[in-house]
Amino acid sequence: MKTRRQFLKISAQAIAAQSLLFYPWKNAEAILPSSERVSPSDRPTIAILGAGIAGLYSAWRLTQMGYSVQVFEAQHRIGGRAWTIRSGDSGSPFLPGKHNYMNAGPARIPHQHERALDLCRELGVDLEVFINENRNSWVIGKNEKPYRLKQALASERGYLSELLHQAISANSTGTSGLSVQQIQEIARSFGDLDESGKFVGSGRGGFIRYGWTDGKHERNSTVPLQDWYASDFFRDHARLFEYSSMGSPLFQPVGGFDRIPHALYSHIKDRVHTRRAVVAVRKKAEADFSITVQGPDGRRSEVQASAVICTIPLTRLKRIPLEGLAPELIQGIEANGSEYFPAVKFGTQYRERFWEQKDRIYGGISQFTEHLQQVVYPSHGVHSRQGGVVITGYLNEDLKEAARISALSRAEQNRLVQEELTKIHPKHAKYSVGMLPICWLKMPHHEGAWPTGEHPDTMKSLETFMNLTGGFQLAGEHVAYNFGWAEGAIASSDRAINRIVGR
Ligand SMILES: Cc1cc2nc3c(=O)[nH]c(=O)nc-3n(C[C@H](O)[C@H](O)[C@H](O)COP(=O)(O)OP(=O)(O)OC[C@H]3O[C@@H](n4cnc5c(N)ncnc54)[C@H](O)[C@@H]3O)c2cc1C
Repeated sequence: MKTRRQFLKISAQAIAAQSLLFYPWKNAEAILPSSERVSPSDRPTIAILGAGIAGLYSAWRLTQMGYSVQVFEAQHRIGGRAWTIRSGDSGSPFLPGKHNYMNAGPARIPHQHERALDLCRELGVDLEVFINENRNSWVIGKNEKPYRLKQALASERGYLSELLHQAISANSTGTSGLSVQQIQEIARSFGDLDESGKFVGSGRGGFIRYGWTDGKHERNSTVPLQDWYASDFFRDHARLFEYSSMGSPLFQPVGGFDRIPHALYSHIKDRVHTRRAVVAVRKKAEADFSITVQGPDGRRSEVQASAVICTIPLTRLKRIPLEGLAPELIQGIEANGSEYFPAVKFGTQYRERFWEQKDRIYGGISQFTEHLQQVVYPSHGVHSRQGGVVITGYLNEDLKEAARISALSRAEQNRLVQEELTKIHPKHAKYSVGMLPICWLKMPHHEGAWPTGEHPDTMKSLETFMNLTGGFQLAGEHVAYNFGWAEGAIASSDRAINRIVGR
């Protein structure tokens, strides 16, 4: 077994062989003269626990740098939460066809997630646009009246601008430095008001009929402020696409999100051991770890490693004995693993793309303030004759409601989706082939989607994770200052690698 000193020396030498440009996070202190080379057999084994994006990415990077790695994954498949379900997969109701799949976990990559985008480019994973905001999609709030998103937002802006136009006076121009007339001018443009400052409807809200050949256009009705208030939709829901990670453009891997873990896996297949659950980790010395893994037959074996990158979700990790590790690390795992969000996704196969043909909705999300929360239409396979899979409910906002719906029986979930969806797509059932519910709370190796961040010690725990020193490092979406994104899984892996080999 190597000592910590030997391990550090070997690590630094191995990293020296790599290009600084290729690993921009590399720590300059780690660069040693290349004359101090070591033979590959001297390189330490780094154990990587979990084969989701964080684990596979870490293994791939370390392998590129010449390190010997071993990845241990409890499930029979790799990818973790980056899981795509297709026709023929166990329990799948999906029809054959390249567009008929469901991303059970991640689906989208926002444009500012540069690590995830760069990784796709480097791996050759093709991307296409993910339509997040669709102004022709439906919104339905507590008053149960469905509106087109553009109809609702144009009305909200129009009526509020009208009020501002009326109310503004010489005493209320605030710090704007503008005259009343100048503010009114902005209000008229912002709300599409008439010259007198009245909101009388707007083409921005869309049309029931557009008179291409007779010039007789019929606009969507306006949504009175009282109705808008009663819908309760004006709160967070109406602003969804203004959050920086939700604004256009967003992307998705062509053919399913699991293209990313599979592309990583293709480079390191022989290092990955599936159906090998980690059941204990023991730190014997600074750079000397013993990991107990259990196979499907229940048999246990010990694996020795000089360093460990652990990507196991905290809900699971908190139950694994971690001997010899710092008490504050154990407390942090306990705190941030205390509650994960019980996200639910329902994937429904339709034989016809009625949402395109009847509703003219091409991709994007319809929103409910209650129950289903989001209905996500596929951005891919427009006009496909093989139908398509719609996420007929994605509960990722209201924790209590997501937990309640997770606990329903499958028949009750089916009934709920049928009833709710009928409010915006009255004839959807006619085209339905079958529905698959994915309740992340019930996924045995995850027990939730991501940390809720509601534990009072969340930030303290994150600080502990970020500042870990030594050969045991955490990585994964939960080791980032924004939970639940692949970008965080990659960033945290870079950080862990840097701590282990770049010191
Ligand atoms: C519903 C949902 C929607 C999401 N949407 C998006 C999105 O649109 N965009 C985005 O970027 N991100 C999204 N995310 C987050 C994204 O899935 C994660 O950030 C990322 O996939 C996490 O990767 P990871 O490697 O950290 O964890 P995981 O993928 O969970 O990998 C951890 C691995 O550890 C394994 N494991 C567990 N216990 C053990 C054990 N004892 N021994 C060995 N292995 C074990 C697990 O089986 C798993 O394979 C979403 C997640 C969910 C659930």
